[in-house]
Amino acid sequence: MAGTLFIISAPSGSGKSTLVNEVRRLVAGLEFSVSYTTRRPRGSEEDGREYHFISRERFEQMIAADGFLEWAEVFGNYYGTALSALDTAREHGADLLLDIDVQGALQVMEKMPEAVSIFILPPSPEVLERRLRNRSQAEGVANEAVIQTRLSEARTELRKIEEYRYALVNDVLDQAAAEMRAIILVARGEASPAEGDLAAQCITGARAPRLEAALACFGLMTADL
Ligand code: ADP
Ligand code: 5GP
Repeated sequence: MAGTLFIISAPSGSGKSTLVNEVRRLVAGLEFSVSYTTRRPRGSEEDGREYHFISRERFEQMIAADGFLEWAEVFGNYYGTALSALDTAREHGADLLLDIDVQGALQVMEKMPEAVSIFILPPSPEVLERRLRNRSQAEGVANEAVIQTRLSEARTELRKIEEYRYALVNDVLDQAAAEMRAIILVARGEASPAEGDLAAQCITGARAPRLEAALACFGLMTADL
């Protein structure tokens, strides 16, 4: 494709959607792939905006027709990126952002090793739990079982962090947005030296103190990964 493919993954509730929306405000020429899912719409979500909401039967037909770049079952529902998202971004000469889970991200990294992968993590399990609770209250759905599943899933996903080129700790939103913007500008070859330094500090292998501190809060050290 003409532009760069960015793969973004994060444990649910880390603030990935919030961060991606902020970055899209700051950086032009970024297209967002609207995934297909069999889960029901949440809160104010609209078909075709956050997701294409489809039945399991229709999803399975798309799998059989090789309609997906990647797909996975997450929390009991199917989620997938249509192959056509790549064509659309190519036609527009835009960069494409995929917000997908770890299983889907690993599939795309294998098929498209040139893709730039970014893992977003919350600063601690306590902050993640608070964000999950705030969001479910705001949406009028307080489901304790869902919150607990997502918290335990977060630890499993974090174990894959070293597969990603970059890791961002979403503590202060403006800072995380500036870091993601810098990563995008580096991939485009448009970064200033200061933006280049900022992006370099987010390389997962650089093991920045903020990253080590967040992983330690989850009971993980980079040496364990
Ligand atoms: P995700 O897309 O990762 O599941 P959301 O973007 O829906 O997460 O964010 C989960 C909750 O956390 C939301 O209520 C959001 O407003 C809040 N949030 C996101 N980023 C931050 C941040 N940096 N600081 C404080 N709250 C945040
Ligand atoms: P949610 O239901 O909270 O919107 O998303 C749950 C999980 O599904 C998140 O980790 C999100 O990144 C992931 N997800 C969303 N779209 C896709 C997709 O197209 N493919 C894959 N593999 N995961 C997705």
